[in-house]
Amino acid sequence: MPLNIIILSYYCNRLIHKYPSTPVNSMHAERLEAQIKQLEDYALRRVRGIPNNRSLFVLTCMDERIRIESALGLEPDDAHIFRNAGGVVTDDVIRSAALTTNFFGTREIIVVNHTDCGMLRFKGAEVADYFLRRGIKPAELAIDPLLPALGLKGEKEFANWFKFFTDLGVEYIDDIVIKNVEALRNSPLIPRDVAITGYVYEVETHRLRKPHQRIWEATSKFEKGKVVER
Ligand SMILES: [Zn+2]
Repeated sequence: MPLNIIILSYYCNRLIHKYPSTPVNSMHAERLEAQIKQLEDYALRRVRGIPNNRSLFVLTCMDERIRIESALGLEPDDAHIFRNAGGVVTDDVIRSAALTTNFFGTREIIVVNHTDCGMLRFKGAEVADYFLRRGIKPAELAIDPLLPALGLKGEKEFANWFKFFTDLGVEYIDDIVIKNVEALRNSPLIPRDVAITGYVYEVETHRLRKPHQRIWEATSKFEKGKVVER
């Protein structure tokens, strides 16, 4: 830096500090205090009743192919995200959704199920049989180790507990979305004014669509070989 510029900036700095337009120290303190408040609010969100950034609860499958944050345009801190095998409504989904909607400020639930889900491929009886052959006795099983009172009556209930989609009477992934949304809507533990919607995530394209609304169906002008006016 040329010497004249260095000298000029030195005197400018002297002048600024001699005649500050705003109290510099106070300005820093205000900024720091705002920063501390922000960090406190963040750390104490639950205590202070501050919801996640989108007031959102998401239910989806644990399958790693679902890039749920990018599919929904979510940033860190935006939502409570619950993932399990199949992204299916279970007692723990109801438990978590009930808590977040009643006590943590969540106003919306989004369910996302996906194509090629493993839960479409098997039946509960097949998986149950795997465990039965290894000596597991469903009636004696602590299905929830922290709540031993919860139990399964027998082998059929054990098979149903896995919630494979075929056991739920569902053949297409679109229908499990609808079933999940209905199950959440029908729960008396979730307030009625909470918005609940569901989508299918296509692992082939990483895109979302509404159940039973495939792009080719929505855009096709052909039906049985004839052009259809819309
Ligand atoms: Zn899955």
